[in-house]
Amino acid sequence: MRIQENLEHIRRNIKDACKMSGRNPDDVTIIAVTKYVSVDTARKAISAGIKHLGENRDEGFLHKKNEISEDAIWHFIGTLQSRKVKDIINEIDYLHALDRISLAKEIQKRATGITKCFVQVNVSGEVSKHGLQPEEVVPFIQKISQYDRIQVVGLMTMAPHIDNENRLRQIFRDLKQLQKEVQALRHIHAPCTELSMGMSNDYSIAVEEGASYIRIGTSLVGKEM
Ligand SMILES: *Cc1c(COP(=O)(O)O)cnc(C)c1O
Repeated sequence: MRIQENLEHIRRNIKDACKMSGRNPDDVTIIAVTKYVSVDTARKAISAGIKHLGENRDEGFLHKKNEISEDAIWHFIGTLQSRKVKDIINEIDYLHALDRISLAKEIQKRATGITKCFVQVNVSGEVSKHGLQPEEVVPFIQKISQYDRIQVVGLMTMAPHIDNENRLRQIFRDLKQLQKEVQALRHIHAPCTELSMGMSNDYSIAVEEGASYIRIGTSLVGKEM
């Protein structure tokens, strides 16, 4: 994998998407999703200039974090089982998949500081996707306001693997709209300034629609396993 070239290509696309939408490319952070690659490849991504790494399984995450001594910002992007919270929560910088009260409760119990979380939303309505239904998001955020170890920094969604640009765009717009509703709550623990959306096949559209974190695996670091 030519990570450096891939990264340059992605950065160019981000720049173009920002130009289209009047955004500043500095407001878009690339998370290299390393779940399908080795520690070595993850290190190469860091050498190429990546600062943010994303993993979706507890074993994979702990292994990478143990082996990688370079400074990195760690994003846990997968569904987190409640019983794994204690092993993970104080090791990560961001959790992208807060999707239920029981998880919030466990984080409150186990976190030693404030955990930056994205609330995951199932905007597309696909049954296979995790996350809250859009109409559940505001009540959810109100409910977790009692847990002061959780800061809702933003919303996250996964779009389906489709080529229908209009459909993808609508999903990202819906998440942006939901973000505005959460911000209007003016909840001190839910500034919700960020949007985690966009993967290898749809990040350009996501950036046009306001993504501040894009999670890129395959088209940046490839797939080795
Ligand atoms: C795997 C994964 C990604 C990256 O997917 P690619 O299509 O390889 O870029 C992004 N977000 C989540 C939540 C993932 O599980």
